[in-house]
Amino acid sequence: MIPGVPGDSQVYLNGEFLRLDEAKVSVLDRGFIFGDGIYEVVPVYNGNAFRMAEHLDRLDRSLAALRIASPLDRAGWIDLVAELIARGGMPTCLIYLQVTRGVYKRDHAFPPEPVAPTVFGMASAWSPPSAEQRARGISAIGIPDERWLHCEIKSVSLLGNVLARQQAVDAHVDEVVQFRDGYLTEGSSSNIWVVSQGKLLAPPKNNLILEGIRYGLLGELAAEAGIPFEARRITREEVERADELLVTSATKEVLPILSLDGKPVGSGKPGPVYAQLRAGYDARIAAL
Ligand code: PMP
Repeated sequence: MIPGVPGDSQVYLNGEFLRLDEAKVSVLDRGFIFGDGIYEVVPVYNGNAFRMAEHLDRLDRSLAALRIASPLDRAGWIDLVAELIARGGMPTCLIYLQVTRGVYKRDHAFPPEPVAPTVFGMASAWSPPSAEQRARGISAIGIPDERWLHCEIKSVSLLGNVLARQQAVDAHVDEVVQFRDGYLTEGSSSNIWVVSQGKLLAPPKNNLILEGIRYGLLGELAAEAGIPFEARRITREEVERADELLVTSATKEVLPILSLDGKPVGSGKPGPVYAQLRAGYDARIAAL
């Protein structure tokens, strides 16, 4: 029994589909021992993976950063995702993909001889944010970003993100807004956006944040809606004075942050820039 998940759901492990409660990985897997691996989370709507090409591009970038040769080619990943969707029986779901460096005698250095990466995939139940969640928005607290300096890699080494997220839970809020040296970075598992005087701002794409798949998407939606967009360093003061704050991720899509450190953000209600970007996001899903 694995708490919280149906044990009989079909998962993919190293070339085969099997029941989740029968999928086993060696204790010497480098993902388990060192967090030496990467992952992706792809949202699926009515059987269609959203921004699949962008997710697979990022998977390739993460693998390249770890110097792991991709265990599947592009067609192989696309087939795997399609098979997970079909077997999962949930037309709207999240597809989780993970690759680790594989199994070898414990040593920090990469294995000196070729080792097969461990490849894992599963479909998880998920509901997109409801109308009520969209109207309620989310709450957040500001915290120092204490993670490492390769946040651009979608690594399964997520301890910094886990500890950050638990701070949100302990404070009875939904997410954290992290700051490094006084500048906005991102959430524990999301990107954060600032609206100031009609302009959409995001921190620059660099090693201090994960480039969310929605990072590029929001840029496109802003351009389509005629909203000026600038990627630049954003101070904590600018975040605290923002007219609107937004959060994006595969699971949250785009949502307004309506309370930060217990104070209302802007009017305390979802703002006009959010409404425009939200409409664009919904249109993209509808067009899938
Ligand atoms: N930053 C971090 C640290 C994340 O974990 C996520 C979620 N994967 C994001 C940003 C948002 O990325 P995406 O839009 O691809 O979900």
